[in-house]
Amino acid sequence: MLSKKIESALNKQINHEISAAYNYLAMAGHFERGNLTGFSNWMLQQRNEELEHAMKLYQYLLDRGGKLELSAIPKPQGSFGSIHAVFAKALEQEKINTKAIHSLYSLAAKENDYTTQSQLQWFLDEQVEEEKIMDEVIALLDLAKGEKSALLVLNQQLGERKGESTEGSGG
Ligand code: MG
Repeated sequence: MLSKKIESALNKQINHEISAAYNYLAMAGHFERGNLTGFSNWMLQQRNEELEHAMKLYQYLLDRGGKLELSAIPKPQGSFGSIHAVFAKALEQEKINTKAIHSLYSLAAKENDYTTQSQLQWFLDEQVEEEKIMDEVIALLDLAKGEKSALLVLNQQLGERKGESTEGSGG
Protein backbone atom coordinates (compact mmCIF):
# COMPACT_ATOMS: atom_id res chain seq x y z
CA MET A 1 0.00 0.00 0.00
CA LEU A 2 0.99 3.55 -0.68
CA SER A 3 1.30 6.01 2.16
CA LYS A 4 -1.38 8.72 2.21
CA LYS A 5 1.28 11.32 1.45
CA ILE A 6 2.51 9.50 -1.63
CA GLU A 7 -1.03 8.76 -2.78
CA SER A 8 -1.91 12.42 -2.56
CA ALA A 9 1.32 13.52 -4.26
CA LEU A 10 0.74 11.06 -7.12
CA ASN A 11 -2.79 12.38 -7.60
CA LYS A 12 -1.38 15.89 -7.69
CA GLN A 13 1.20 14.86 -10.29
CA ILE A 14 -1.53 13.29 -12.45
CA ASN A 15 -3.23 16.69 -12.37
CA HIS A 16 0.05 18.40 -13.38
CA GLU A 17 0.48 16.10 -16.35
CA ILE A 18 -3.10 16.54 -17.56
CA SER A 19 -2.84 20.32 -17.04
CA ALA A 20 0.32 20.31 -19.14
CA ALA A 21 -1.53 18.36 -21.85
CA TYR A 22 -4.34 20.91 -21.73
CA ASN A 23 -1.87 23.79 -22.06
CA TYR A 24 -0.22 22.13 -25.06
CA LEU A 25 -3.65 21.65 -26.62
CA ALA A 26 -4.26 25.41 -26.25
CA MET A 27 -0.91 26.09 -27.92
CA ALA A 28 -1.72 23.66 -30.75
CA GLY A 29 -5.03 25.43 -31.35
CA HIS A 30 -3.29 28.78 -31.39
CA PHE A 31 -0.82 27.62 -34.06
CA GLU A 32 -3.45 25.88 -36.17
CA ARG A 33 -5.53 29.02 -36.20
CA GLY A 34 -2.51 30.86 -37.56
CA ASN A 35 -2.08 28.19 -40.29
CA LEU A 36 1.13 26.96 -38.68
CA THR A 37 0.09 23.32 -38.86
CA GLY A 38 3.63 22.02 -38.31
CA PHE A 39 3.98 23.84 -35.00
CA SER A 40 0.45 22.74 -34.19
CA ASN A 41 1.27 19.09 -34.92
CA TRP A 42 4.33 19.31 -32.69
CA MET A 43 2.24 20.65 -29.81
CA LEU A 44 -0.37 17.92 -30.34
CA GLN A 45 2.35 15.27 -30.05
CA GLN A 46 3.51 16.99 -26.89
CA ARG A 47 -0.05 16.91 -25.57
CA ASN A 48 -0.29 13.19 -26.29
CA GLU A 49 2.94 12.55 -24.39
CA GLU A 50 1.67 14.40 -21.33
CA LEU A 51 -1.50 12.32 -21.35
CA GLU A 52 0.65 9.19 -21.54
CA HIS A 53 2.59 10.43 -18.51
CA ALA A 54 -0.68 10.96 -16.63
CA MET A 55 -1.85 7.46 -17.56
CA LYS A 56 1.44 5.93 -16.46
CA LEU A 57 0.99 7.50 -13.01
CA TYR A 58 -2.71 6.57 -12.99
CA GLN A 59 -1.87 2.92 -13.58
CA TYR A 60 0.92 2.95 -11.01
CA LEU A 61 -1.31 4.57 -8.38
CA LEU A 62 -4.02 1.95 -8.91
CA ASP A 63 -1.56 -0.95 -9.14
CA ARG A 64 -0.28 0.03 -5.70
CA GLY A 65 -3.79 0.05 -4.25
CA GLY A 66 -4.07 3.84 -4.20
CA LYS A 67 -7.28 5.81 -4.64
CA LEU A 68 -7.62 8.04 -7.68
CA GLU A 69 -8.69 11.57 -6.73
CA LEU A 70 -9.04 13.73 -9.82
CA SER A 71 -9.23 17.48 -9.38
CA ALA A 72 -10.02 20.50 -11.55
CA ILE A 73 -7.74 21.34 -14.45
CA PRO A 74 -6.78 25.02 -14.53
CA LYS A 75 -7.92 27.00 -17.56
CA PRO A 76 -5.00 27.33 -19.98
CA GLN A 77 -3.67 30.61 -21.24
CA GLY A 78 -5.97 31.66 -24.08
CA SER A 79 -3.92 34.04 -26.17
CA PHE A 80 -0.25 34.02 -27.03
CA GLY A 81 2.40 36.32 -28.44
CA SER A 82 5.15 35.30 -30.84
CA ILE A 83 6.04 31.70 -31.70
CA HIS A 84 9.09 32.20 -29.52
CA ALA A 85 6.93 33.32 -26.60
CA VAL A 86 4.81 30.16 -26.90
CA PHE A 87 7.87 27.91 -26.71
CA ALA A 88 9.37 29.96 -23.89
CA LYS A 89 6.13 29.37 -21.98
CA ALA A 90 6.31 25.66 -22.82
CA LEU A 91 9.89 25.44 -21.53
CA GLU A 92 8.88 27.24 -18.34
CA GLN A 93 6.09 24.70 -17.87
CA GLU A 94 8.53 21.80 -18.31
CA LYS A 95 10.92 23.31 -15.76
CA ILE A 96 8.09 23.60 -13.25
CA ASN A 97 7.14 20.00 -13.96
CA THR A 98 10.73 18.86 -13.46
CA LYS A 99 10.69 20.49 -10.01
CA ALA A 100 7.39 18.75 -9.23
CA ILE A 101 8.88 15.36 -10.17
CA HIS A 102 11.97 16.13 -8.05
CA SER A 103 9.90 16.94 -4.99
CA LEU A 104 7.78 13.84 -5.51
CA TYR A 105 10.98 11.81 -5.72
CA SER A 106 12.37 13.31 -2.53
CA LEU A 107 9.09 12.66 -0.75
CA ALA A 108 9.26 9.01 -1.86
CA ALA A 109 12.82 8.86 -0.52
CA LYS A 110 11.74 10.38 2.80
CA GLU A 111 8.91 7.86 3.06
CA ASN A 112 11.27 4.97 2.22
CA ASP A 113 9.02 4.14 -0.73
CA TYR A 114 11.57 2.41 -2.98
CA THR A 115 9.01 1.27 -5.56
CA THR A 116 7.76 4.80 -6.16
CA GLN A 117 11.34 6.01 -6.46
CA SER A 118 11.96 3.34 -9.06
CA GLN A 119 8.81 4.33 -10.96
CA LEU A 120 9.82 7.99 -10.87
CA GLN A 121 13.25 7.24 -12.30
CA TRP A 122 11.63 7.06 -15.75
CA PHE A 123 10.04 10.48 -15.19
CA LEU A 124 13.36 12.02 -14.10
CA ASP A 125 14.94 10.88 -17.35
CA GLU A 126 11.92 11.94 -19.38
CA GLN A 127 12.11 15.49 -17.98
CA VAL A 128 15.71 15.81 -19.16
CA GLU A 129 14.44 14.91 -22.63
CA GLU A 130 11.45 17.29 -22.42
CA GLU A 131 13.60 20.27 -21.48
CA LYS A 132 16.18 19.35 -24.12
CA ILE A 133 13.73 19.22 -27.05
CA MET A 134 12.13 22.48 -25.94
CA ASP A 135 15.58 24.12 -25.73
CA GLU A 136 16.36 22.88 -29.23
CA VAL A 137 13.25 24.42 -30.77
CA ILE A 138 13.94 27.70 -28.95
CA ALA A 139 17.54 27.69 -30.26
CA LEU A 140 16.23 27.20 -33.82
CA LEU A 141 13.72 30.01 -33.34
CA ASP A 142 16.56 32.23 -32.13
CA LEU A 143 18.50 31.41 -35.28
CA ALA A 144 15.45 32.17 -37.46
CA LYS A 145 15.24 35.66 -35.89
CA GLY A 146 11.59 35.98 -36.96
CA GLU A 147 12.48 35.61 -40.64
CA LYS A 148 9.41 34.20 -42.41
CA SER A 149 11.17 31.78 -44.76
CA ALA A 150 13.16 30.26 -41.91
CA LEU A 151 10.02 29.93 -39.79
CA LEU A 152 8.21 28.15 -42.63
CA VAL A 153 11.06 25.64 -42.93
CA LEU A 154 10.90 25.07 -39.18
CA ASN A 155 7.11 24.73 -39.40
CA GLN A 156 7.57 22.00 -41.98
CA GLN A 157 10.25 20.28 -39.92
CA LEU A 158 8.14 20.23 -36.75
CA GLY A 159 5.23 18.95 -38.82
CA GLU A 160 7.16 15.74 -39.32
CA ARG A 161 7.17 14.87 -35.64
CA LYS A 162 5.27 11.64 -35.11
CA GLY A 163 3.98 9.94 -32.00
CA GLU A 164 6.60 7.89 -30.25
CA SER A 165 6.24 5.12 -27.77
CA THR A 166 7.26 6.22 -24.30
CA GLU A 167 8.30 2.64 -23.62
CA GLY A 168 11.24 2.82 -26.03
CA SER A 169 14.78 3.47 -24.95
CA GLY A 170 16.35 6.86 -25.42
CA GLY A 171 13.04 8.12 -26.99
MG1 MG B 1 5.03 15.09 -18.49
